[in-house]
Order: sequence, then structure tokens, then C-alpha cells
Amino acid sequence: MQKGAIRVQTENIFPIIKKFLYSDHEIFIRELVSNAVDATQKLRTLASVGEFKGELGNIDIEVKLDKEKKTLTIADHGIGMTAEEVDKYINQVAFSGAEEFLKKYKGQSDGANIIGHFGLGFYSSFMVSDKVEIFSKSHKEGVPAVRWECDGSPEYEMEATEKAERGTDIVMHVNAESEEFLDEHRIRTILEKFCKFLPVPIKFEGQQINNTTPAWTKKPSELTTEDYQNFYKELYPFAEAPLFWIHLNVDYPFNLTGILYFPKISKSYEIQKDKINLYSNQVYVTDEVKDIVPEFLMLLHGVIDSPDIPLNVSRSYLQGDPNVKKINAHITKKVADKLDEMFRNDRKGFEEKWESIGLFVKYGMMTDDKFLEKANKFLLLEEIGADKFHTLEEYRTEAAALQTNKEQKLVILYATNPVQQDSYVKAARNKGYKVVKMETLVDAAFINNMEAKWENVQFTRVDADIADNLIDKDEKAESVLTQEEEGKLKDLFGQQIAQPNIKVELKGLSADAQPVIVTRPEFMRRMKDMAA
Ligand code: ADP
Ligand code: MG
Repeated sequence: MQKGAIRVQTENIFPIIKKFLYSDHEIFIRELVSNAVDATQKLRTLASVGEFKGELGNIDIEVKLDKEKKTLTIADHGIGMTAEEVDKYINQVAFSGAEEFLKKYKGQSDGANIIGHFGLGFYSSFMVSDKVEIFSKSHKEGVPAVRWECDGSPEYEMEATEKAERGTDIVMHVNAESEEFLDEHRIRTILEKFCKFLPVPIKFEGQQINNTTPAWTKKPSELTTEDYQNFYKELYPFAEAPLFWIHLNVDYPFNLTGILYFPKISKSYEIQKDKINLYSNQVYVTDEVKDIVPEFLMLLHGVIDSPDIPLNVSRSYLQGDPNVKKINAHITKKVADKLDEMFRNDRKGFEEKWESIGLFVKYGMMTDDKFLEKANKFLLLEEIGADKFHTLEEYRTEAAALQTNKEQKLVILYATNPVQQDSYVKAARNKGYKVVKMETLVDAAFINNMEAKWENVQFTRVDADIADNLIDKDEKAESVLTQEEEGKLKDLFGQQIAQPNIKVELKGLSADAQPVIVTRPEFMRRMKDMAA
């Protein structure tokens, strides 16, 4: 038997691991299963380059609970470790085995598939254990198996042992405070969270937990519409079918795969954030994808997988990371290109989805100038009463002759509530004006924002007095009332309303509209909207 002290660079690292390394203790399962997956992938790589000539056989990873012995075991049939390797990779904490492996096998088909991001992964087992044992048998022929044991102090024991199968068993003797990890239900939930899409079969209580080849890891050409829809169901079993999706697939200058789904959004839609899951080589990392995904796309659903996103680092660091910035810009570009393609190839379908898409497009135009540039071509303005959608250019072409103000700006007339503002809309339409719908939550901000960004465009609400002036530009209103009646009516309304910023006028609107109009200057209205 060999005894020794674990050589660590920082003295007594265990208390630090226990307290600070991971605030979520459940993460140790991710770390140990990831190591088991790595070990299996390494063996596959060795087999594919002819360095391992034996039978791969059963490569399943098994998670086992023993309530009596109070142990949780993760067993793999991967590459295994010799005593020397345990000494090197486990005892010399600071030494990253994955790094060395990568150096040696760089450029090989699977070499890049090693999860090397998690730092002190193995030692996270001590967060929940009084004692951890390793039983390992290397894939190398004729090498004796090894048993290693450590109780969380820097001292360990190591000896030769008997083990029938190739691979590694990590046996955790779960401590009193962590007995939750001896509960089947708890373990299953954690496995489903972190391991659902790992590339090696993971078994727990005889059942396989994971889908080893989730849709995003396949080529878009291999997938049918149904495959994408089924994968969405796998992610969100209770959600309504998605509207459409974007398959991300980049390998240079950074590695990124994933599928982003656009949910159907209606007026009653309950906003659901944090529906995009971040993976690293199929290991679940987090659902906090701020900075990685542009803010205006945070409502999308789906998966992104990138080994190039630094993990376990602070949020502020992530913000400044060049890969993260590039990934963010790439996602924006992909979404803009997809929308543009949909608009050009199937305008009708695009218009039908506009209620859902419009929200993203408008928010994106306000917050991202690169997106704005592209979206200017496919932003739609829905004309009330005409069952028609216009792009900005189309609206300009059709409306500019009548709807240009004194400063030669195009005036976009809009209604925020087409039902309440119906008589104004009708009056405007009778004059040949085009009134568009601006009734969603984002529209007030969108209007202010676009007036600043679009040259030569002014928005005017259909019931504002500016709109009214525009409407009456060259016509005299005809009234059904005598002058005396008009005067009385005006006084009556004026007294009833008695507010300095409200103006009462009598106008001939259309025959089916009411004869009195109460308007508020556009300026006053916006002040109020902004204060609200
Ligand atoms: P990392 O995975 O980032 O290298 P870990 O602390 O998780 O760091 O693991 C340290 C090393 O221990 C690994 O790189 C690997 O060489 C070795 N190791 C851990 N678990 C296993 C396992 N199940 N099979 C083979 N080797 C393992
Ligand atoms: Mg690891």
C-alpha cells in the first residue's frame, strides 16, 4: 500500500472546494458523470486511431445508489487509470489530464470533444462525501487495477486491487448533511437536468437517462420538420408547437451549435425567460444565457452548445470575453438572415406569423443597429381596415403623396387601439390615408426610437391634432350643425372637460362617425405616455 499527501498548489484546498467552488452542491454529479463521459470518449478516440485494439464492448455509464452503505457510485467502461495515472491525475490536483490528452491528440477526430473546462471537477465529490474511493482498471493490457481512497484530508491511500471490468468506479460515501443525494428521485432529477443529452448512454436504475444524439448535434440536412418539432417537445413537453427555428452550426472562428426556436406569441402570452439552455459538448451548464444571446432574443427557446464559452467564471468577465461577443453577434446575424429569407421566400407565411415575430423584430431594431439595418427591409406595418401589410418602403411609396408634412417628412398614422379609435381611423381612411396598427407593449418605445433612427419619418397618432391638421390640409370641414349650435356644443364639451391641454373642435367626419372630436396635442400625449 502506498500512502502519501496530495500535492496541491494551494495548501488545504478541500475546505475551499467544499464551501466556495460550487454553490450548488448537486454539480458534483455533473462533474463526475462528465469525467466518465470523457474517459469513454478518450477510449473511442484511441480505438479510432488504432491505439486501442481491444473490444469496446459495453460502454454504458451507470449511476448506482446503495442506501444501506450510503454510497453513490458512478461507474464507467472508459479508458481507466493505472496507479501511476491516479497518482498523476488525481494526486497532482493542479495537473489537468484533459489538457495533456488534448496536446497529444490535437487534430484527431474526437480530440476536441473533451470537457476540460471544469477545473477541479473530481474534487467536487468531497462536497458531499466523508470518503471517496476510486476503483480503476486501465484499458492497457496486463496492468493491475488500483484502489484509491481519501477522506477529504490531504492524505490518501492507494493499493492494488481486483476489478473485473475495464474502467473506473467512483464510490462516494455520502456524508450526513448530504443524504438528499441518497434519494432516487433527487438523483434522477439531477441526472435529467445535467445529463439528458450526453453522448454516452447513462443508466440509472436500469433505465437510460439520456438521448445521446440530440437534434442540434446533427446536420440540418439530416433533419426533417418533424425531427425539429419532436426535439422541441423533448425540451418542453407541455409547450405549444414552435413557429419556426434556426439551426446554428459554426466551427470557425469559434465552435457553436444549437437550435433556437421562436415560440408562438399572442396577446395572452405569458413571457417566459430563461428558456434557452447552454451546453458545453452536450453537458448542461446553465439557463442563464445573458450576454451570450442578444437581449432581444432572450424570449426564444432552445439550446446552444459551445465549448468556447468560458464556464465557471464571473458574469462581468463573460461580458468582455471576445468569443462571447462574437457568438452574440453571430446569433443576431443568423436570426436576421433567417427572417429575411422567410420574408422573401414566403411573404404570406411571414405576415401570418407577424403577431409573434413583430415583437422580436421591433425590440431588435431598437437595441441593435446591425439588426436594424437588415430588419428595415422586412419590418411590417399592418394597415387597419385594409387587411394589408406594408414594409416601410412600400408604405412610403403608397402614402407619401398624401402623407407628407411641412418638413417633407413621411407621416405614419397609427392607432394604438383600433376599436376605440375607430371613428378617427375611418375619417382618415376616407381621406385616403393609411393608418397602421401600433397596439403592442413595445410599440410606444418603438415609435420614439424609430423617429430618432429613421430619417424623414414622423409618427402621428390618428386621434392627435397633428393628424387632424394633416387630414384637413386642404379641405374645409363641412358641418351638419348651424354656427349657433356649434358654439353651444363646443362650450358644453369645453366646460365638461375643463382641462387646459385638451382642445374641443367640431368637425365633419364621415357620415357614420360621431360629430364631436376631442383631441389632445401629440406632444401632451407623449409626455403623459412617457410619465406612465
Ligand atoms: P478535468 O476533468 O478538468 O481534467 P477533473 O478533476 O474532473 O479535471 O479530473 C482530473 C483527471 O482525472 C482527469 O483529467 C482524468 O485524467 C482523471 N479522471 C477523472 N475521472 C476519471 C475517470 N472516470 N476515468 C478516467 N480518468 C479519470
Ligand atoms: Mg472533469
